[in-house]
Amino acid sequence: MLPLQVRRAGDERLSLLVIGAHSDDIEIGCGATIATLIAQGRVGTVCWVVLAGSARRAGEARDSAEALLGTVEDRRVILREFRDGYFPYEGGGIKDFFEQLKAEHAPDVIFTHQRADLHQDHRVTSELTWNTFRDHLILEYEIPKYDGDMGAPNLYVPIDEPLVRAKVEHLKRHFGTQLDRHWFTGDLFSGLLRLRGVECNSPTSYAEAFYCRKATLG
Ligand SMILES: [Zn+2]
Repeated sequence: MLPLQVRRAGDERLSLLVIGAHSDDIEIGCGATIATLIAQGRVGTVCWVVLAGSARRAGEARDSAEALLGTVEDRRVILREFRDGYFPYEGGGIKDFFEQLKAEHAPDVIFTHQRADLHQDHRVTSELTWNTFRDHLILEYEIPKYDGDMGAPNLYVPIDEPLVRAKVEHLKRHFGTQLDRHWFTGDLFSGLLRLRGVECNSPTSYAEAFYCRKATLG
């Protein structure tokens, strides 16, 4: 399949804005994609945002982001303390924060939650991303969960097998508070990558998948 490549004029490196509602969402949804882009030398700037990052989970989120972004010199990790589970009622504050982000950053690509995610915090995050950023390429990542909202994504990033293992190890190493959750297991994370790899005929057998609702070819 002919791959689409996101490039800036003059081959400048990309500026990414990566948004997650909770401390481990970004790593689960698109951690291997971010790591792949960084390894390819295609990332110049990253603004990494966790909206409900407080107490122990804030420390986990920061340590994880710093580890994943290690070689990106121009990086900013922002942890906010919006109330976990209550984003529909925190919408005004989150919207104000997003407007502030837009004034401070000009990302080429934004990673956020997928629109049909049934977790209320994820859904509000996705809606306010689209509501705020109207001149940007937005890719929506997926989070497997109890609610059963997995759909049919339409954009895939092949992931090398060693990076699949690295993703699982990274999640287990950095998110100790989640290890007792029945769904937080390596086979779930690697299994989803394998499934998405089949769907895009990935040459590595694995892929992370996204929803790309609009894009321009040029
Ligand atoms: Zn979450």
